[in-house]
Amino acid sequence: MPESGKIQIFSVVENKLVEVDRIAWSDAEWKSQLPPAQYRVLRNHDTERPFTGEYCEKPQGAGIYQCAGCGTDLFVVGTKFESGTGWPSFYEPIHSNNVGTTVDRSFGMLRLEVHCARCGGHLGHIFNDGPPPTGERYCINSASLKFVPAAN
Ligand code: FE
Repeated sequence: MPESGKIQIFSVVENKLVEVDRIAWSDAEWKSQLPPAQYRVLRNHDTERPFTGEYCEKPQGAGIYQCAGCGTDLFVVGTKFESGTGWPSFYEPIHSNNVGTTVDRSFGMLRLEVHCARCGGHLGHIFNDGPPPTGERYCINSASLKFVPAAN
């Protein structure tokens, strides 16, 4: 469960860190608020099957990906790359404040889990086989994201 209280996250619209309330809803509240596919990934740490997600392809124009649970800004299109894995892949988040990580030992693997810092929603995992400049690969479920095209 995410903690309650305040958190500083980076807002793309405001182009600065802003203080917001953490979202610490109960499981029942999340279940009533989210569509089933989003609930399974964000709250139950499910992984969508590769090449099935809405955001596998890189979009034509600029934009950002927000948390499908709480709207926190998570990734920009410019950091998305084609990993060949069938999951949306990014080499870095919008801001380190906007995501959190936990060690995930499930399924007999040692992986770094990544989640939304504000609502605790599960996003995916981070691997160290990504491209420059970071060498990291944020392997993210489409179901945990909501794409917002840049205004022209
Ligand atoms: Fe969130």
